[in-house]
Amino acid sequence: MDRRKFMAAAGAAATAAQAAPGKLALDGGKPVRDKPLKAGYWGTQFYDEKERAELLEVLETRSPFRWYGPGGTPKKVLQFEKEFAARMGAKYALGVTSGTAALQVALAALEIGPGDEVILPAWTWHSCFNTIVLAGALPVCAEIDESFNIDPSDIERRITPRTKLIMAVHLQGNPADLDRILAVARSHKLRVLEDCAQSVGASYKGKPLGSIGDVGIYSLQLNKTITAGEGGAVVTNDPVLYERASRFHDLGGLRAPHQDAVGKQQLDWFIGANYRMNEFTGGVLLAQTRKLDKVVDAVRANAQRVYEGIRDLPGIKFRRRYDPAGELGSGVFIDFGGKQRRDRFLAAMKAENITAAGPGGSVILPTLPHIMAKRTLHPAWPSFNTPRGKAIRYGPETCPRTIDIHGRFGGVPMDPKFTRADLDDIIAAIRKVYPEVVRA
Ligand SMILES: *Cc1c(COP(=O)(O)O)cnc(C)c1O
Repeated sequence: MDRRKFMAAAGAAATAAQAAPGKLALDGGKPVRDKPLKAGYWGTQFYDEKERAELLEVLETRSPFRWYGPGGTPKKVLQFEKEFAARMGAKYALGVTSGTAALQVALAALEIGPGDEVILPAWTWHSCFNTIVLAGALPVCAEIDESFNIDPSDIERRITPRTKLIMAVHLQGNPADLDRILAVARSHKLRVLEDCAQSVGASYKGKPLGSIGDVGIYSLQLNKTITAGEGGAVVTNDPVLYERASRFHDLGGLRAPHQDAVGKQQLDWFIGANYRMNEFTGGVLLAQTRKLDKVVDAVRANAQRVYEGIRDLPGIKFRRRYDPAGELGSGVFIDFGGKQRRDRFLAAMKAENITAAGPGGSVILPTLPHIMAKRTLHPAWPSFNTPRGKAIRYGPETCPRTIDIHGRFGGVPMDPKFTRADLDDIIAAIRKVYPEVVRA
């Protein structure tokens, strides 16, 4: 061991000794903190006079609608789209009412419909499955890997001649294995939709998430990186996909500002919905987009400090990260090798007054009763009425690895406003609890 390594090891040992106050709070010892530490909602903690000014301007000009109003041509949503596209490294961005709406718009842009199959991870949010069904297509669930994201090696065996799209969801701030996903997609001529709802602001090998596949979607709901309570966005570099997205989100027509953006129109009217963003939302999201890097830098730095503070713990295994530098750091997750140990970790951390949790913010879709029953809004709905739709089975037996991974990881959710002292408490609690839990 060279001197530097020796000093580092000695330092770590000293930290460990300092943070070894003995008995777990769970067993009657003194907790690391007096009061519980919980992560909050990120974006709203950064609200200030900027969001206020944007909102007031919309109020005072009495122009809450994005396309026209008494106060001249409204510009908030348009400006948000411009700056959001630039931040995401994409040519085009479209503001919509939610992340779910963004998924529906993206699926419409990609012309996904009855008879098509879409492969998505078994562990993700309802919106992914629901919008595939609402498009009339068939959702096919693939296993996740230790990154909590879709496992590229499981995608291949779920592909059929009807497969058209892979929904690559970047869950809990962590990029999916995009190189391998894109390679599978390329070799089977499939499109890739990136769902970045839980990873707004994260990147993969230097590129912002959402700009790498054919289309990217984002949610700007309260639980996501930046927020106006509700909101969503679609990005793409393809002018035709953008035109179809814009038309679908606005009843099938194309408004002048978006005509200007596409240059030459290539499509005609078709049947669309209304997912237009309003100017209040656009104003708040404009202010929030300008703060995105600040939020991301803060969360990342906090997660980094926790990783650094615990990485020397013997045998510790973190969530798999395909690009650690691009990860948001929504949470620091540890593999406990089994559910019993993981659950003991969660209980022990709670007793130390540090909130810890398993992988959260999503559901194991194939285990949900309404999905196993293939319950849709109409008995003749196309998704499950084709021979393949009738034959497909959901249920826990279709995703055993997802259930296993979901059960054996536990971690601490991060917050951009955690203080040094908060982070030191998290580190101290993990250093206290982890050895006890893995010894058992
Ligand atoms: C939140 C979320 C959505 C949907 O976003 P809403 O704005 O709530 O409609 C879609 N996909 C994932 C992975 C999400 O976490």
